[in-house]
Amino acid sequence: MLVGDAECFKDQCTAMGMTHAFRDAELVTAALDRWLRGDASVAEAMESYESRRRSQNAAAYYDYVCTLAEMRPYRHDELQLFVALRGNQQETDRFIATHADVAPVSEFFQASNLFLLNDAAKESSAGFAIFDDFAATSRTYQQNIFA
Ligand SMILES: Cc1cc2nc3c(=O)[nH]c(=O)nc-3n(C[C@H](O)[C@H](O)[C@H](O)COP(=O)(O)OP(=O)(O)OC[C@H]3O[C@@H](n4cnc5c(N)ncnc54)[C@H](O)[C@@H]3O)c2cc1C
Repeated sequence: MLVGDAECFKDQCTAMGMTHAFRDAELVTAALDRWLRGDASVAEAMESYESRRRSQNAAAYYDYVCTLAEMRPYRHDELQLFVALRGNQQETDRFIATHADVAPVSEFFQASNLFLLNDAAKESSAGFAIFDDFAATSRTYQQNIFA
């Protein structure tokens, strides 16, 4: 049985490795308990551990972390999303929950949600200088991401 970093080692940018290690330990302990009590065969118990973990959307979160870890300058639509989130506590909470793997990545980033947020963002991004000529401004970011 693979638990924590033994199963999946991720970049530290989202600081979730310990949470996942504890989560896996709890899930695998529950599975072993079922086997030791005679409620399931060892194969069934391990299979249930594996499927519980998969239901946590592990692959999607792994991809999300890999993308964040590239630390690329934000794209136009990403910046607009952050602008839209500024005035929307409910969606901000969901975004942070995604970042901390409390809510599934696929739920927040589903096309319909982004479409609605981006629609709101187009309105609220007026007045932010960076959107006046994003192409030119982002070229300077490409040269120096700390600019
Ligand atoms: C620089 C850095 C910053 C991080 N920051 C954060 C953070 O802010 N928040 C967060 O949640 N996570 C963070 N993490 C990730 C987190 O530390 C790990 O995901 C977590 O510790 C994994 O726990 P684990 O028990 O699976 O593995 P480990 O903590 O690596 O434990 C495995 C243990 O097994 C031992 N071992 C290995 N081989 C054998 C052997 N053959 N026999 C006996 N013992 C053996 C090792 O010595 C080790 O003590 C960070 C990681 C790094 C590297």
